[in-house]
Amino acid sequence: MKFWICTTCGTQYMASDEPLEICSICSEERQYILPSGQHWITLEELIASNKYENKWEEKEQGIFAITTTPSFALGQTAYLIQTPSGNILWDCIAYLDAKTIKQIRQLGGIKAIALSHPHYYSTQVEWADTFDCPIFIHQDDQKWVQRKSQRIQFWSGETLSLVEECTMVRLGGHFRGGSVLHLQSGDQGKGVLFTGDIVQVTPGEDWVSFMYSYPNMIPLPAGKVKKIAEMLKDIPFTRIYGAFNRKITHEANRVVQKSAMRYIAALDESLTESR
Ligand SMILES: [Zn+2]
Ligand SMILES: [Zn+2]
Repeated sequence: MKFWICTTCGTQYMASDEPLEICSICSEERQYILPSGQHWITLEELIASNKYENKWEEKEQGIFAITTTPSFALGQTAYLIQTPSGNILWDCIAYLDAKTIKQIRQLGGIKAIALSHPHYYSTQVEWADTFDCPIFIHQDDQKWVQRKSQRIQFWSGETLSLVEECTMVRLGGHFRGGSVLHLQSGDQGKGVLFTGDIVQVTPGEDWVSFMYSYPNMIPLPAGKVKKIAEMLKDIPFTRIYGAFNRKITHEANRVVQKSAMRYIAALDESLTESR
């Protein structure tokens, strides 16, 4: 029996002798199966290949981005966030080796793992078992969890306080339970938002976007984008740390508001040259 991992999205499944024919996360319309077909690997094989390592980058005091190099699966980034009440792992990546475990233990371990949406579930149960901590996932995304565990706590409603300074906010959009994490003390008390790709930072790091599917380029309805912008309007934050290690470094709340307005203008044809 092996815990198979889909090589395209990094999701780990319940133990089985043979992997599934197709990954449930990749075979729905927000993801894709590569033309070469479905491929699987195990965490043990990934480690034994000696091909990968996790790169650490301190973004600001107490916030570390962790990304696997060379890129594996979707090239996701996880963040270790230090707070006086313990460390939070925001989102998760598939690759977890002895060196990473040692580094995290030296920084005080992990108190809780919090997930933005299913494209980050990866090997979250391996991480939770290693660091003996709970995983928080919005209950609206429960059906996407592939490797079940008693460690997963499904939360409901619109917000969840993880520790004193860290609150999860459900925005929906990309996934029904799609959530972001607000760190009140981030950027010297001005506030920081971790968004996964619920709010996606663009390559220029000066705009954001909001899509139902990024790889398949399927937009969200205008009403949904408006609602996301409204929900974030009164939350104080100046920075965003997003998926793929991209960031907005200042006036991030204003960037979200202007990006939502541009997005809606594009959908109602008032922005584009086709008008
Ligand atoms: Zn997959
Ligand atoms: Zn996604």
